[in-house]
Amino acid sequence: MYCRVIVDIVHENVAKPFTYLIPESMELCAGQRVAVPFGRREKEGVVVEITDECDVPAEKLREVIRPLEDYAAIPPELMALAEEMAVKAHCPLAETLRLMLPAQMRGGRVHVKTVRVAQAAVSEEEIRTALAADRRKGKRAALLEILADGKKRTVHELAESVRDPQEALKKLAQDGLIRLGDEETLRTPEGAFAETEDPGYELTAGQQEALEEILPCLTGKGGRFLLHGVTGSGKTEVFMKAVRETLSLGKCAIILVPEIALTPQMVSWFRGRFGPVAAVIHSRLSPGERYDEWRRIRRGEARVVIGARSAVFSPVEKLGLIVVDEEHESTYLNDRHPRYDTRDVAASRCARENGTLILASATPSILSFARARRGDYTLLEMPKRVNDRPLPEVEVIDMRQELENGNRTVLSNALRRALKDCIDAGEQAILLMNRRGYNSFVSCRTCGYVVKCPNCDISMTYHLGGSDGKLRCHYCGTEAAPPTVCPECGGRYIRYFGAGTQKVEEEVAKMLPGVVCARMDYDTTGTKDGHGKILEEFRSGRARILIGTQMIAKGLDFPQVTLVGVVAADMALNLPDYRSRERAFQLFTQVAGRAGRGQQSGRVIIQTYLPNDPVIGFASRQDYRAFFESEFRRRRNRLYPPFTVLGRLLIESSREEAAVRAAEELDGKVRALTAQHPDWQKKILTMLKDIPSVKFLKAKHRRHIVIKALVGPETDAFFGALTEMAGEGTDGAEVTFEVNPATMM
Ligand code: ADP
Ligand code: ZN
Repeated sequence: MYCRVIVDIVHENVAKPFTYLIPESMELCAGQRVAVPFGRREKEGVVVEITDECDVPAEKLREVIRPLEDYAAIPPELMALAEEMAVKAHCPLAETLRLMLPAQMRGGRVHVKTVRVAQAAVSEEEIRTALAADRRKGKRAALLEILADGKKRTVHELAESVRDPQEALKKLAQDGLIRLGDEETLRTPEGAFAETEDPGYELTAGQQEALEEILPCLTGKGGRFLLHGVTGSGKTEVFMKAVRETLSLGKCAIILVPEIALTPQMVSWFRGRFGPVAAVIHSRLSPGERYDEWRRIRRGEARVVIGARSAVFSPVEKLGLIVVDEEHESTYLNDRHPRYDTRDVAASRCARENGTLILASATPSILSFARARRGDYTLLEMPKRVNDRPLPEVEVIDMRQELENGNRTVLSNALRRALKDCIDAGEQAILLMNRRGYNSFVSCRTCGYVVKCPNCDISMTYHLGGSDGKLRCHYCGTEAAPPTVCPECGGRYIRYFGAGTQKVEEEVAKMLPGVVCARMDYDTTGTKDGHGKILEEFRSGRARILIGTQMIAKGLDFPQVTLVGVVAADMALNLPDYRSRERAFQLFTQVAGRAGRGQQSGRVIIQTYLPNDPVIGFASRQDYRAFFESEFRRRRNRLYPPFTVLGRLLIESSREEAAVRAAEELDGKVRALTAQHPDWQKKILTMLKDIPSVKFLKAKHRRHIVIKALVGPETDAFFGALTEMAGEGTDGAEVTFEVNPATMM
């Protein structure tokens, strides 16, 4: 028999499977990892097929050296998924196969951990005889006494009764009375999570209705749902019930969360309610622990997996359910090669394995909601909060008015008063400030006017220092000089947005001396457990105000929070990205959802220079439908995804000239390519070689070529060719090709 093996080398010439002879004494199956000779070296590979046909001349045929495990590391369903993803991402199968395995497993970098065990080798009678003959009653006798019952014990365990038993055990083994051996163990991460009881809630009508649709699918052929439930509607409880049902049917479930560090609550609930059948995959696991959790899943010992996007590849058998919580989060797009959208991968897995998919969010992505409306997903809506708690009231503060009244600080008088009341009442507050450090947009502080590209409806970006202080559109390249006088109202107070969380913290400290604030942003969460510590400080009540970037808006449940302030809504609205409106709406709604989750009702204050912006209006009324309709229309009119596809070739190099030269070269190549393919050319709406708004990142100079094209098979082919072009690389620069990337910055 022969097998075809994908060798774990990513190179175009090695992309196809190679045929090897299976030695007589060896048994292999598809999905198993093997060591094979490759050139002069030994390489790892994955068996993709067992066959009795040999397509290699006898003198070139070589033998498999050995299997790396005695089971298929990649089950057939994941093999099929890897193949599909490789075709879609235009990359070698070896690359998508890597996604299916814990990274540490490749190259034999982690090893199976073993413990030393001892067990009687003879009958209890014989042990009794030996004991009777031993008159010294030393360690050996004591050990024999314990092991007489024939049960296996670890040396570690034995050491609790007999101090330093090693020597004595060795002697007993030499005498043939006991057997010593090594046994595999799993490094199961300690449950640092407290047990939580099932609270035994009576389900709300919304939860009930959602479950009535979902549960029947779990027994049958599966289904696809978009669960749109307002913040605090109890979506987690719906997943819990669905998971419970999945388990009782003997199937497995995968729960995906945007970022595991931000969901300690969900993790502890799952651990608490499902115990050891739950596996939690998070970034703080050591490589060994990660590998062992993976094996626990592969062996079927763990049947509920909770983790970030890569957990979608968990090797569960009998997949019953995948939940994608907060499905609108951009962390579900993997932007490293091979690129994938976790939601699509989850859908594909469910379709193949008859699983049920639930995408859940209070603010579904435009893409997912559009699909639900088209009928690709069953839409489930939970429009009410649990226990009839009201949605928080949202107040919009016109910052232009504040300026007119002589308040030039970042906090409006209304927000100041509300903060003070909140603290006086012994409650907690959250203040949201957008991420800083990006190039800023330009606006008029008198009337709120923002400089936008006339072609693209995207805020133009001001380049500090760069191209002599020009404003630039990052989609089409239009340039303009920044106005000194507002073209709308003639005002002279033109402002470059850019204040950060630190500024807000200073302002609060001045106003409320002695009140402890916790600040959470990219500066304060750099350390390993930064998130956890800051959140704990807030949860415990020691910190009364949490100030942070958008990372605080996600899925947290703090019952003591009654006030949420969005300090500068305009920052979110005006990011140079076609999705900025979608992101802003999500952000405002999600952060507002943090208020009033306990007994007290909540209050939300949004500060803006654009109080009449429709997105602010939709967010303040928390009207997702109206927002969706307006944004969907805008995307159609302005030809943005899902009506078009955006592609970008990203060029990065530690030397700027190399990046510039590579961009030049690629631009030429792309133009030559489209000249050869008039049918591709016809689909292209815009194509632009440019400096991205983040032009220097992680010590690399960046350039990009952005292409907007109409949806269609020609564009697929064109983008496929560009992926291959990126794969070939260039001298001195790294090139990646992204389709609808999570960020265009
Ligand atoms: P969402 O994820 O939809 O924003 P959560 O799942 O966080 O909402 O639920 C909000 C709160 O309501 C949580 O504290 C949860 O424990 C509680 N909860 C959920 N379902 C019920 C119910 N049926 N009855 C009472 N409380 C509930
Ligand atoms: Zn433009």
